[in-house]
Amino acid sequence: MSSAVAPAVRPPNILVFLVDDMGWQDTSVPFHAQETPLNRRYHTPAMARLASGGVKFTQAYCACVCSPSRVSLLTGLNAARHRVTNWTMHRDRATDAKHAVIVPPEWNVNGISLDPATPRAVCAPTLPGLLRRVGYRTIHVGKAHFGAEDTPGADPLNLGFDVNVAGHAAGGPGSYLSEQGFSGVWRKADRYWDIPGLDKYHGTGTFLTEALTREALAEMDRAVRDQCPFFLYMSHYAVHVPFAPDPRFIQRYRDAGLDETEAQYAALIEGMDKSLGDLLDALDRHGIGDNTLVLFLSDNGGLSAHGRGGPPHTHNAPLSSGKGSAHEGGIRVPMLVRWPGVTAPASVCDHYTTVEDILPTLLEVGGAAGRLAVLPPGDGRSLVPLLRRADAAWPAARPLFWHYPNIWGPTGPGLGPFSAIRAGAWKLIDYHADRRFELFNVVEDISETTNRLSDSPATARALAEQLSDWFRQVGAQMPGDRTTGHLVPLPDAALAAAAGGGAPGRPTRIA
Ligand code: CA
Repeated sequence: MSSAVAPAVRPPNILVFLVDDMGWQDTSVPFHAQETPLNRRYHTPAMARLASGGVKFTQAYCACVCSPSRVSLLTGLNAARHRVTNWTMHRDRATDAKHAVIVPPEWNVNGISLDPATPRAVCAPTLPGLLRRVGYRTIHVGKAHFGAEDTPGADPLNLGFDVNVAGHAAGGPGSYLSEQGFSGVWRKADRYWDIPGLDKYHGTGTFLTEALTREALAEMDRAVRDQCPFFLYMSHYAVHVPFAPDPRFIQRYRDAGLDETEAQYAALIEGMDKSLGDLLDALDRHGIGDNTLVLFLSDNGGLSAHGRGGPPHTHNAPLSSGKGSAHEGGIRVPMLVRWPGVTAPASVCDHYTTVEDILPTLLEVGGAAGRLAVLPPGDGRSLVPLLRRADAAWPAARPLFWHYPNIWGPTGPGLGPFSAIRAGAWKLIDYHADRRFELFNVVEDISETTNRLSDSPATARALAEQLSDWFRQVGAQMPGDRTTGHLVPLPDAALAAAAGGGAPGRPTRIA
């Protein structure tokens, strides 16, 4: 067999740097039209460095909690289609909180699986699996949270990754501290939360974020040594609870007068940013920075309903609410992309994007789009035109969809089972429990202070129809209503009933 012909252009390495539960404002890089007090609180020089070399996406979206976003990232499918609509944990057990009215549907409680024998399996090919087929070494470091414990989807090695460091079923760390062995035993938590594969760091005083960074650097070294293009999925457990003081960075925030919870949180952010800086330095050291795309993203909005210092629902200001919410604070996330030679330095893209766009984008970047016989029929759209020109022509009213027929737990602005659609400047939210609707112009009213439902009924109706048509097409699962014994109607029927202007749709018995 002759040796393969060298491609004319070596495919770029791809570094996806994913942060857990990081809010849109948890950075010194301003994603809002102007700098905010939160931008002045946080210190993220590596993010600023990345932004100075690439595109800042000011309206990037994810799902409102962890697993749905992560499965969408891996499959390019919307949560309404892959049906991992809530966060996953134990096999065959839903994580939904109890609700007086809503009964969640039979969503994919086991998360992603590539085994068609698994009931209700998501059988889409994965991003790492596809990149591996076109020659990438695919490396997973950090938090996985794609599938429930004791299911195939819990292990990144079953999902197209060649290497897995520290990824398993759990959606958070037992502990950030090596002195606690990264285990949750200190808080009497189930051993489920113990982070695997980092034993050599136990008791060394190495903070979790740093241990993961060193592992990622070692994997990068190996790939470079082997002259292998790599897809490095650096997925930090930071900044998810349980917070802990990172001794390297905490003092600055205590000195600034933040309460202890917020000081620990800010130090977690700075430790995450230090990791990004270390990885960017390593790319330069290896001389591959110019041929590596770096994509920075958070998986949902910043935690704000509980567990933080200060008043709840305020931690993502000027956005309303936080993680779990249909409001912007729950779903709008920081996103940066640097692709040297392609992205213009310090450019800003105000087109809205979604996590489903990442798979088609990275397949195009990796040259897979032209080399694989069949590409998955995803719900996203390649962002490569926007990487080439941040102000490129882009469908202005492109619809984005959210479906969360689930119960996260806390109450507050935008929290509770919901479906939503964004198209152009408008966002319509359908709250399943009480068939209440909110319509916001999120361009004019980024803080979602004014419900425009009564003054723009035609806009609301059009959005409800568009959302419902798409739900019918993908078979979105609506929850049940205990009080009626029926499924919650689709948004168009619910809106018509709420407006008193039409039939509520044919009710369907809960299975
Ligand atoms: Ca998360």
